Amino acid sequence: MALDLDAIYTDLHRHPELSFQETRTAGIIAQRLTELGIEFEEGIGRTGLAAVIRNDDNADDGERGPVVWLRADMDGLPVEERTGLAYASTARGVDPQGLDVPVMHACGHDMHVTALLGALERLVATTDEWRGTVVAVFQPAEEYGAGSQAMIADGVFDRFPRPDIVLGQHVTVLPTGTIGVRPGTQMAASDGLRVTLLGRGGHGSRPQATIDPVVMAAATVMRLQTIVSRETDPRHVAVVTVGSIHAGLKNNIIPAEAVLELSLRYTDDEARARVLEKVERIVRAEAAASGAEEEPVIRVDHSLPPTINDDEATARLSAAFTRAFGDDKVVDPGMFTGSEDVSWFAREAGVPLVFWFWGGVDPQVYADAAASGSIERDIPTNHSPFFAPLLQPTLDNGVANLVTAAREFLARR
Ligand code: ZN
Ligand code: ZN
Repeated sequence: MALDLDAIYTDLHRHPELSFQETRTAGIIAQRLTELGIEFEEGIGRTGLAAVIRNDDNADDGERGPVVWLRADMDGLPVEERTGLAYASTARGVDPQGLDVPVMHACGHDMHVTALLGALERLVATTDEWRGTVVAVFQPAEEYGAGSQAMIADGVFDRFPRPDIVLGQHVTVLPTGTIGVRPGTQMAASDGLRVTLLGRGGHGSRPQATIDPVVMAAATVMRLQTIVSRETDPRHVAVVTVGSIHAGLKNNIIPAEAVLELSLRYTDDEARARVLEKVERIVRAEAAASGAEEEPVIRVDHSLPPTINDDEATARLSAAFTRAFGDDKVVDPGMFTGSEDVSWFAREAGVPLVFWFWGGVDPQVYADAAASGSIERDIPTNHSPFFAPLLQPTLDNGVANLVTAAREFLARR
């Protein structure tokens, strides 16, 4: 009894769920895994699941084959779907602020989940051809950048065999049939910082009796601009954005503190360490320049590492994709400035990661848009209310990608 992947996909698409609320999605995954006879655990990192296919003959004699982790993320986004598809979402949800919001699978994570189920079905049906262990990770809350760490904190590494390699994929704006993968930095890193500058409040008419955090914040914001313009090699990518600044309630009161929220982006761990060190140095120095009596508080609210593909494993996988799908199907898509939390799994385990993109756009539509130079304008990207991957062959390709990738790193019989 084969899984009806198209039906699973359209059902998931109709019923997207917000981050850490993917209970219906998890229920469907659990039901399908049960049908496939695959061992799994639910509720890892709140709404996550992991499943395992153990396919070693003599697991006790030390002759264990490779352990390959395949990861799919599960969450939707607070976006009102406008694709006009027959299976478009009309779902609503409640966000962490308690607001009632529309929900859409605007990033294609429904495609990721369905493709992984399809790949497991195929891997479990062909256990006479490969040897080793496949762990499938259905991760919640990628859009918060929090789901993989939640699963790690909840002991996914203790409850399942640790990986030798972590593999994952994302559907995107490329022609169907095309796979985009590159060694090195595939996606940027980002950190969200909350900086609290501590002054001393008082009457607006008596500044000499206060330490004014508004002036401290203003100077800090200006000085932070020099990290990119004066301290970063112009050949390197870095972004320092102060996205919010809050202080005070009234014109004649000097407040006691000011809060800045920063978004930082970079392409590798060295750049990250450099920028974070500079932010800290400037924040502390400006506080000292203001005569602050208390050190500012710098908190990293969320942290997404760069998604860095292992050179050797990526070369091996690109060759496998090329053999399976053809020379012209595997491209270098360049670095994406978005961020992902998949690499926490590989970092935590100290093993290679390969994360690739696969195409979900009708090749003719893509070619026409490319010819008129209007890809950016005419083809809706991930997170757009119009984002609508072509169901097939995108879904079957997603399954084939995962099976090809897993088999490349598993042992052959
Ligand atoms: Zn997304
Ligand atoms: Zn995504």
